[in-house]
Amino acid sequence: MSSFYQANITYITEHAISPDRRRYVDSTEIPRHYFDADHFGKAPFHTMPQKWNDAVQKYTVDTLYKYGTLPWTIQHNYYRLVDAFKSKDTSAILHYSAYLGHYVADACVPLHLTLNHDGQLTHQDGIHALWESRLPEQFSSKYYYYTGNAKYLENPLWQAFILCRNSFKSVDSVLRIQRQLDKVFPADKKYEMVLRGKRQVNDYSAAYCKAYHQALKGMVQRRMRLALLNVGSYWYSAWVDAGQPDLNKLIDPALSLVDKQQAAREAALYRAGQIAPLPDYGKVNKPLPPAPQDLSRSAGKPTP
Ligand SMILES: [Zn+2]
Repeated sequence: MSSFYQANITYITEHAISPDRRRYVDSTEIPRHYFDADHFGKAPFHTMPQKWNDAVQKYTVDTLYKYGTLPWTIQHNYYRLVDAFKSKDTSAILHYSAYLGHYVADACVPLHLTLNHDGQLTHQDGIHALWESRLPEQFSSKYYYYTGNAKYLENPLWQAFILCRNSFKSVDSVLRIQRQLDKVFPADKKYEMVLRGKRQVNDYSAAYCKAYHQALKGMVQRRMRLALLNVGSYWYSAWVDAGQPDLNKLIDPALSLVDKQQAAREAALYRAGQIAPLPDYGKVNKPLPPAPQDLSRSAGKPTP
């Protein structure tokens, strides 16, 4: 299975952010990326029925779209991926692998589980991109990534709710730790001009990022490892549920020598607990990924 994904790593890497881009052209895409659990009371994961039809019955479809459909989006894309494996449709397998991977990763980010998704309710605006983009940009090259083998997931919807509930538990820490830091960190050192592409923008300073990252005590790394293990487990389970089709027949185009060497390098790095650096999009003339701020939901909520 891993050789299939290695052969198509360029596609997966480039399309892992497609669902976020799609939000700008398709407003129905927006609620798929979050689930505002705190809208549903003190114990949302007790009160929210897991099955979509039961949830609709209890809360109405409009309410669910308004406060996000992330766990059901994972379930939906999971079964599309199973279908794609069953029909041995390479482009559909890659498309749904990338989309499913994106949503599973979203479910591992605490701020995708709260109404206060960008700290806007507690005067912590900007915390979404800080946690989700700026900290990983600065520190993820030092993380340890080896997570062991993917696991078979008995119930993909149940697992999606487990991930969401687990992330939701960390929402308070993400916000509280930043508020505590702000009490002791010199306010005039919090922001600085940072180079983004060719532009200088005012953003959190490197010293501030380091202090917040330290205060989070490894949380970003833990959530990234959780995401990695779960993306792999969802892909693996979909392949098993599809009857374990022979993917060697699907690898298209065949790996070139350069690709094979690159795949071997990545495999060695992975065994050592690291990941290969992302390709330099600027150098290969590919469109740049969206600026990190664009990845936060502040870019647009569904208009009521
Ligand atoms: Zn997303």
